[in-house]
Amino acid sequence: MTESTENQFETGAVVYDSASGNVGEYRGTAGPYALLRPVGGGREWETRPESLRPATPGERLGAGVRAANSRSSQHAQEPPVPVRDCAACADLAGLRDDARARHDGSAETDADVLLRRHQRRYHAPLLGLKEYEPAPNASDGAEYETSCTECAAGSGARRRPADVEEWQRGHARDTGHARYRRTVADYAVCGLQAPVP
Ligand SMILES: [Zn+2]
Ligand SMILES: [Zn+2]
Repeated sequence: MTESTENQFETGAVVYDSASGNVGEYRGTAGPYALLRPVGGGREWETRPESLRPATPGERLGAGVRAANSRSSQHAQEPPVPVRDCAACADLAGLRDDARARHDGSAETDADVLLRRHQRRYHAPLLGLKEYEPAPNASDGAEYETSCTECAAGSGARRRPADVEEWQRGHARDTGHARYRRTVADYAVCGLQAPVP
């Protein structure tokens, strides 16, 4: 017999499986079988260790491109690219790289979400990203409210200033309290808008 095929490949090595005709990442052994996973993540499969050989550069590239394509079609978005000289971008991209290096797909996605959120907030004009822009929403009207500063009583939100004044008169009549805090609230919408050039 030939020598043991255990530890023939390092975990994470990209190998070609002649039994299935697929390129995958070597994940270790399961009994007599070698365990492989699609490059970039996915369902693992088992194969005979003797059907494995290191993937050629072309095979590695092809598998990497397929993995990148399936990622971007899943998320319909390219992974965000860190902005040069931004420490926050560098930190978040570092988190993502660490996650990718240990094949933790969900941590990688989380880091992408954080990076995208950071970039939307701080680099939107630079990157041509849409930005969330608040605008008054007049159709929802406004609300008026008053509370007594001498006790805990309050009018609650009212649609008309006259209703608040009516409550105030009643409260003053009942208690003799003379000091009030009045607020007016309006409604806004906040949607994604293209950046102003
Ligand atoms: Zn940044
Ligand atoms: Zn009061």
